[in-house]
Amino acid sequence: MQKGTIGVTTDNIFPVIKKFLYSDHEIFLREVVSNAVDATQKLKTLSSVGEFKGELGIMDVRIAIDHEAGTLTISDRGIGMTAEEIEKYINQIAFSGAEEFLEKYKNDANAIIGHFGLGFYSTFMVSKKVEIRTLSYREGAKAVQWSCDGSPTYEMTEIEKSDRGTDIVLYIDDENKEFLETQRIETLLRKYCRFLPVPIVFGKEQEWKDGKYVDTDEDKIINDLNPAWTRKPTELTDDDYRNFYHELCPGSDDPLFWIHLNVDYPFNLTGILYFPKIKSNLDINRHKIQLYCNQVYVTDSVEGVVPDFLMLLQGVIDSPDIPLNVSRSYLQSDANVKKISTYITKKVADRLQEIFNNDRKQFEEKWNDIKLFIEFGMLSDEKFYDRAAKFALLGNTEGKFFTFDEYKNIIAGEQTDKDGNVIYLYATDKTAQYSYIEAATARGYDVLLMDGQLDAHYIGMLEQKFEKSRFVRVDSDTLDNLIRKENNREVTLSVQEREAMTTIFKSQIPTIDKSEFMISFEAMGESVAPVMITQSEYMRRMKDMAAMQPGMSFYGELPDSFNLIVNTDHPLCKQIMADTEAACSERIAPLASQLESVNSEITLLNDARRDKKEEEIPVTEKEALRTAEQKAADIRKQQEAVYTEYAQGNNLVKQLIDLALLSNNMLRGEALNNFVKRSFEML
Ligand code: ADP
Repeated sequence: MQKGTIGVTTDNIFPVIKKFLYSDHEIFLREVVSNAVDATQKLKTLSSVGEFKGELGIMDVRIAIDHEAGTLTISDRGIGMTAEEIEKYINQIAFSGAEEFLEKYKNDANAIIGHFGLGFYSTFMVSKKVEIRTLSYREGAKAVQWSCDGSPTYEMTEIEKSDRGTDIVLYIDDENKEFLETQRIETLLRKYCRFLPVPIVFGKEQEWKDGKYVDTDEDKIINDLNPAWTRKPTELTDDDYRNFYHELCPGSDDPLFWIHLNVDYPFNLTGILYFPKIKSNLDINRHKIQLYCNQVYVTDSVEGVVPDFLMLLQGVIDSPDIPLNVSRSYLQSDANVKKISTYITKKVADRLQEIFNNDRKQFEEKWNDIKLFIEFGMLSDEKFYDRAAKFALLGNTEGKFFTFDEYKNIIAGEQTDKDGNVIYLYATDKTAQYSYIEAATARGYDVLLMDGQLDAHYIGMLEQKFEKSRFVRVDSDTLDNLIRKENNREVTLSVQEREAMTTIFKSQIPTIDKSEFMISFEAMGESVAPVMITQSEYMRRMKDMAAMQPGMSFYGELPDSFNLIVNTDHPLCKQIMADTEAACSERIAPLASQLESVNSEITLLNDARRDKKEEEIPVTEKEALRTAEQKAADIRKQQEAVYTEYAQGNNLVKQLIDLALLSNNMLRGEALNNFVKRSFEML
């Protein structure tokens, strides 16, 4: 028997392994199973090149729990090790600069294991003693057992072992008893070893017999040896891709699209990425992209490897160039990894372009499901924008889809304003903005439906990208104002009429919480609604942004301000004007002439003080002006009172206002009830 000290230059690695690595204990299993798989693959290679002439036989990797002995054993029939090889590969580990590194990464087992090539030693995270029992494939090799109880010393002896290969026997320590539970080990094997290329056997298949499950003679193989991504795209049918997806992401709907990745320069990478069909927010992040290294599961935290906007995709990426013991800091800084991310972006864009070219119908059908990814991509990645701008679609309120270029060609004729800007009209809610959409389409305009989660930002970006263009929501102004043309009709109202109508309408708007109304007048033609309510695009965008960004609460606290627009061309509005004139002129006329004389007095007084300094104006004149202004204000108040009183009895005014509110979904509660009652009375 040989005894020795493990060649560690820092005092002792074991306390470090045990104490520092509180988390991720489970990855020891990944490490030993992948060593076993490597040893198996190496022997297969040696056999295929003729360096190993013996029988390969069954080449499974077996995992077994011995509850009585308290051990977990991982066995392979691979190349095995001679005593010299154990000395070289296991006993000599170099830890230069170890302490500093350990201090820095004490919470990151992957970083430590990866840095020191400590795969095998990670078993000491969970074991009080580890034995290696191994017989090399080499002719005449003697079987050896190496054992170590977690102190820097080991023991090595020759043993009897007839079968080629290696058993790693882990005497699980008291704090880690969970790794002796069948269920726990099976779960871990399914996580880390599910797609390994060598059969991983753990226990027996079971069958239902006499009211319970019993073991059969058949070995239970945990893994799928040839997962779809390792095969050639030409060998795979659509069903193969779908089946693999369901294997990876059980319980999901069929994916929308998939992309088979396959590169060997400047790095090796294979994989399949799926665009999932996301039904609700709950689905997001239920399944993520999994990162593999030669079919060994590494992680599903792929930040940095996959561009952010593709994090919602699902599937697998496998690259031997990403080390198994990948640590977060590594992923974020590595240049290769950055290249991978760029490559994936390009591939995704190419594939979408291909589907768009080959099967536009399918692409349109799925657009609403994938637009979130694409818009996010275009917002976050300039290069992706450039590629996607050729296939990204704009959908209108009639459910038709257009590329950017197609759409511009369609609307440029009708929807270019007098300054040459192309105006993109859009709606965010087909039902709530129905009457505005109707009015716009009746005028020959087209209205986009921008009701996606990202559309507010997306619109902002498109405005920057499209030359001489503006996006305006269809209910943000009258059609004439949304797209200003040369020959807009003029409103022909006298000052007196304007004041009368403003008071008449303003006084009858029901009180709506946190809302303000301004009255304005437009000559919109007889066929357009008599009264309309709009909200300015600018204010609405500011308020929308305020809702998302805490720093802008100023805008959020402002009341919503709306315009109530009276269509002076409409017969009903004309009638209201005529009725008002008829009903009020008797009371208004004397007030008007009083106001006229007060106003001319004010003009005279103002003329007199022009060019004079404040101190040169006699006190009496100042006094006179103040009195006159007060008088004018009083008369106006009286006029308003006359109009308001009249308006109160004018059901037509009330009805028109309520109808406008109603078609904007703003008439609620008591106001709605009043409207219904009034309507019955009028009928
Ligand atoms: P790494 O696998 O990164 O080289 P490990 O500490 O996991 O580091 O293993 C060290 C070496 O021990 C391996 O490179 C291999 O030569 C040898 N080894 C480990 N496990 C086995 C095994 N099951 N069969 C044969 N050789 C093994």
